[in-house]
Amino acid sequence: MLAKTGVPTNEDIQKVMPTEKRAEQGPVAVMECFQKIPCDPCFTACPKGAIKEFSDINDTPSMIESKCTGCGICVAYCPGLAIFVIDYTYSDDEGLLKMPYEYLPLPAEGSRVETLDREGRLVGTARVVKVQRIKGQQKTPVVWLAVPKELLMTVRNILGGGISCGG
Ligand code: SF4
Ligand code: SF4
Repeated sequence: MLAKTGVPTNEDIQKVMPTEKRAEQGPVAVMECFQKIPCDPCFTACPKGAIKEFSDINDTPSMIESKCTGCGICVAYCPGLAIFVIDYTYSDDEGLLKMPYEYLPLPAEGSRVETLDREGRLVGTARVVKVQRIKGQQKTPVVWLAVPKELLMTVRNILGGGISCGG
């Protein structure tokens, strides 16, 4: 269950981690969604059928990790900013993190940014690989970051500030 701060506990995170075998195969979504709320855009947005149909709209999402391609579409559609894509195969030293980011200005591709953990603590820096926009939809931008592999499950935001660009 969620800590009183709203920050997921290590136990919460362990429950939604992809299996080691799947993580070694390439990009995969991590659904850090722990609150039972009436919401299912992740299910309706996924083009691969990688999220099981909700039997109750208040359910938290359940993945079929073998079907996930790590495309990041669900990241852009999730109003709770609760989905991330991790890719341990990106390079020898770095992993790729795809994270929702709803502030302006958006970071520039190729720039270095300071990274934050789930509690907002600085944890290092990362290179902005890409800023993904889902065409034709006003959805949350998805920022792709190259981060040290050991921080792929730690980095969850970047230091930016600015104004919300909505979702
Ligand atoms: S990353 Fe793409 S394939 Fe994977 S669950 Fe999200 S929308 Fe589906
Ligand atoms: S869209 Fe986001 S907040 Fe809504 S159920 Fe899916 S993961 Fe949770």
